[in-house]
Amino acid sequence: MLSVLGLGVCALLGVMVGLSPFDSSRAAKPVAIGPSDAPTPEAPLPPVSAAPLAAEPVATDPIPEAPPAPAPILEAKVETEATAESEAKAERETPADVSQEDSPRVAEGVLGKGDTLVRLLSAQGVSVRVVDQIAREMIGHYDFRNSQPGHRYRLVQNAEGEIESFHYRISPIIAYELTPNPDGGFTVVRNEAELWPRQTMIAGVVTTSLYGAITNLGAAPQLASDVTDVFAYDVDFSRMIRAGDEFRILYERLFRTDEDGNEIFVRPGRILAARYAGASGEYTAVYFEPQEGRGGYYRPDGSTVQREFLMAPVRYGRVTSHYAAKRRHPILKITRPHHGIDYAAPTGTPVFAVAGGEILYRGWAGGFGNLVKVRHPDGYVTYYAHLSRFADGLRLGQPVSQKQVIGYVGSTGLSTGPHVCFRVAKNGKYVNPLQLPTPEGPPLPEEFKRSFQARRDTLLASLDSGTLVAADEAL
Ligand SMILES: [Zn+2]
Repeated sequence: MLSVLGLGVCALLGVMVGLSPFDSSRAAKPVAIGPSDAPTPEAPLPPVSAAPLAAEPVATDPIPEAPPAPAPILEAKVETEATAESEAKAERETPADVSQEDSPRVAEGVLGKGDTLVRLLSAQGVSVRVVDQIAREMIGHYDFRNSQPGHRYRLVQNAEGEIESFHYRISPIIAYELTPNPDGGFTVVRNEAELWPRQTMIAGVVTTSLYGAITNLGAAPQLASDVTDVFAYDVDFSRMIRAGDEFRILYERLFRTDEDGNEIFVRPGRILAARYAGASGEYTAVYFEPQEGRGGYYRPDGSTVQREFLMAPVRYGRVTSHYAAKRRHPILKITRPHHGIDYAAPTGTPVFAVAGGEILYRGWAGGFGNLVKVRHPDGYVTYYAHLSRFADGLRLGQPVSQKQVIGYVGSTGLSTGPHVCFRVAKNGKYVNPLQLPTPEGPPLPEEFKRSFQARRDTLLASLDSGTLVAADEAL
């Protein structure tokens, strides 16, 4: 499937992180240590050095901001309503008393395919009574019939088998915490992790596709589609990319802090700046919010990247047939013009309207198979043919916005494989989609120019610098 799409491997420059001061210590971590540093069996180092060497990866971690040796935690007075409870707990767990049978029992794990929480807990020796109690107390908070593979749980019971806490995580962001309260019942809290960003820069060279180049650097596929969207007005990534094209992306990686204080990568966040320099030209975009919460992408000169038409109706595909005055038809075996561009892509790939307008046609149309036509201002109509199906609820006369999904790639009608035939007509005559007018977007209002320029300079400076590191977020 991948080779069909042309999502091949690419040469890598590397991924760069470490643009804000607090990142710099971390940036060196993945490159600093390698197996090659370990002593070889032929020339063993004295045994004393072996242990520190093995511990080295830990030593390169940034020093925690908290004091490294806090006072014994059980003696700490916490000035909250929970103080009484904490002290009671402290009494039970006085270090001197800690013995095997008094220590809390922990049952934890991750749901696999076909697993149920009940079965996993039972297998770990948790009594039916406790399992029932958890199910009962979680009613109204979480329905375990919705449990899915990947969900994590952690049950802590005291020596008497009473629940001290039950933690159930359904996503990197959302978890439920069940704890006993003073009046003998339980409290369930839904925790939504706060995500915090860290600026990251990745840069690379394309050999076959931008998608492949980005994911091969260890970045999430989401980043690849996001950057495609940023440049969707300038670059058709199915058609205009060439081996050797270069890209740089400055973006936010979003993290949460887990129960043990570890930083967990959740997903890529916003792209702050990006550059694509290729055979088709060089494009740079910078994210800017003239007003808080109302941001967009701008070119370095301050004009918005948005144009009337997107370059293509799919994010990624492979152009199998260009607009041509003459083409030998693959099925009819006759020579006739091809008035569109064919983008081959897997069945089900979303197809979107390249510009805002209204639905002019939605239905079967002979050789076109399932066809959608969208009417745009100035006499333009766009065609999207051979669709496997239409977007849910799509109806005639309905207004659609630019990039709204109108259907999905298929192979209906006269077609040799899954693709979308994209055509453009102006005043009833087909025109070459590549020759659509592309007027510049409107410039930023004068009042925002100053702050835009300052922001642009900061972001572009970060885009062009950085330290080599791996992103490792594509799981
Ligand atoms: Zn076609």
